[in-house]
Amino acid sequence: MTKRYKVIEKDTEGNATEKEVGLRELWNYVSEEEWKKESRDSELRYFHDTHRHCGSCGAEMRESSDISRKCTVCGREDFPNLSPAILVLVKRGEKALLVHARNFTRPMFALVAGFVETGESLEECVMREVREETSLEINNIRYFGSQSWPFPSQLMIAFTADYSSGDIIFADEELTQGGWFDRENVPLLPTLPSLSRRLIDAWLNNII
Ligand SMILES: [Zn+2]
Repeated sequence: MTKRYKVIEKDTEGNATEKEVGLRELWNYVSEEEWKKESRDSELRYFHDTHRHCGSCGAEMRESSDISRKCTVCGREDFPNLSPAILVLVKRGEKALLVHARNFTRPMFALVAGFVETGESLEECVMREVREETSLEINNIRYFGSQSWPFPSQLMIAFTADYSSGDIIFADEELTQGGWFDRENVPLLPTLPSLSRRLIDAWLNNII
């Protein structure tokens, strides 16, 4: 079950009320260090909850350390799996490519993103995701930064790239809207602490 966190919220007159929030919203109430600790705990709970039985022989698995579980029959040991996913900010002169995916719960625009597939390098994943989602070709892929993202256990890796060729054609099943935006004309964006927002902020501040 997804953990809820009790936080204290103060209104503009200083009256405090207690409420419960999820891990994503907890970011607004605690320090970055605390949020990272709760994020790691959440990922480990997910690992232990979803590895109750052995993937080889089906027998019961038991916790053998806080980051591992061992099969009680064949001895197979499992550790938490991370799911690597890329984000890319594609630049075309002074403009950047921002997209709205159908699964967004808010009317916001973010970066092209996707999970790394088996057998693929990060750079190949960046090129494939941009091509699949927008039909654009890119070059000059550069690393920006990375972030552990505990929903439920992703490792986000962010890049910048330059537009090379093509016209935007969105893949129907994944994207509904998007386009090239100026720094002076950005739409509603994802919130911190997402790496997507950090990368967009770096572009907005002319750092990249
Ligand atoms: Zn086993």
